[in-house]
Amino acid sequence: MKNEKFFSTSLLFWNRTENSREMPWKGEKNPYKIWVSEIILQQTRVQQGMHYYNRFIHEFPDVKTLATASEKKVYKLWEGLGYYSRCKNLITTAKFIDKTLEGNFPEKYEDILSLKGVGNYTASAIASFAFNQPYAVLDGNVFRVLSRFFGIERAVNTTEGKKFYTALAQSLLDKKNPALYNQAIMDFGAVICKPALPLCLQCPFQKKCVAFLKNKTSVLPINNTVNKQKKRFFNYLVIEYNHKLYVKKRVEKDIWQNLYEFILIETKSLQNEQQILKNEQLLSLLKGHDFKIKLFSQKISQKLTHQLITGRFIHIEIGKPLAGKKYFAADMDQLKTLPFPKFIASYLAEKNVPLSSI
Ligand code: SF4
Repeated sequence: MKNEKFFSTSLLFWNRTENSREMPWKGEKNPYKIWVSEIILQQTRVQQGMHYYNRFIHEFPDVKTLATASEKKVYKLWEGLGYYSRCKNLITTAKFIDKTLEGNFPEKYEDILSLKGVGNYTASAIASFAFNQPYAVLDGNVFRVLSRFFGIERAVNTTEGKKFYTALAQSLLDKKNPALYNQAIMDFGAVICKPALPLCLQCPFQKKCVAFLKNKTSVLPINNTVNKQKKRFFNYLVIEYNHKLYVKKRVEKDIWQNLYEFILIETKSLQNEQQILKNEQLLSLLKGHDFKIKLFSQKISQKLTHQLITGRFIHIEIGKPLAGKKYFAADMDQLKTLPFPKFIASYLAEKNVPLSSI
């Protein structure tokens, strides 16, 4: 492609003379720490991710401590980050490295790529940053910079588009300094060629950047995603007995797997107080119980990638314990140690764990 040499040279010059972006994992050579940072940063903003990364590394400084930690503790540290399958994969992979690979992080690109939860981007990041191997990273920042500078109109989320960008990124990579180059292009995308309002007037690529010259910065890169969002309605019964709340672990293959929740009644639409009090599940659960409704919360919503969760919390006090083994009663100290999805954690935080205190 035209101007490839100019691009790579200018990028490295910018990196040498102007790049002052700081991040706790920058320059890191330990593959375990790079891996943790990259998994945390998938689908997470750097500002939010930093806090989680620092806490993770503090609690689990190496793969052994992560592999042997209680899963509940790992999920608790992950609480609020979302996309919990990342946490599940992190645990699985840590155990695999600890047991099967005797604690040695794999060095070959193909071996890194075969780890659970590790895709092309993460494998390239680990291979280049930790082992200085010539694999170009391709994340949202890199797609954007390449698409704009070279004026590429192929969609970044198609198989054909990904193949094209992978080949281009690989051909631009400084093979002698892959770690330096990869970090430079990601930093450049994050601080100069930003998604909205890129800093074109101070950009060293300006005079040859197709998007700038053709006024296309707001349309590139092209993404064909049609994000179909499923709407779900969750009614959480916060059942209190003797200063304890009933909870259970979500074991189903669904969102928030392995996290904890209150008694859930999922409905086809948002329910008002009268509707939920006539719900058959609720009536059967509370059959034979004297109960008092302590709170019927406002509507709460949380957007996930493919789902929009809307719901309420209905805090109910009962006079004798619930029958059945599906749920267990947790006191305040236990509740604080359990990992909850953000939907519930925010409610608990707002109510300061609502045991008889509403
Ligand atoms: S000129 Fe603007 S659009 Fe082009 S690479 Fe620089 S910041 Fe991005």
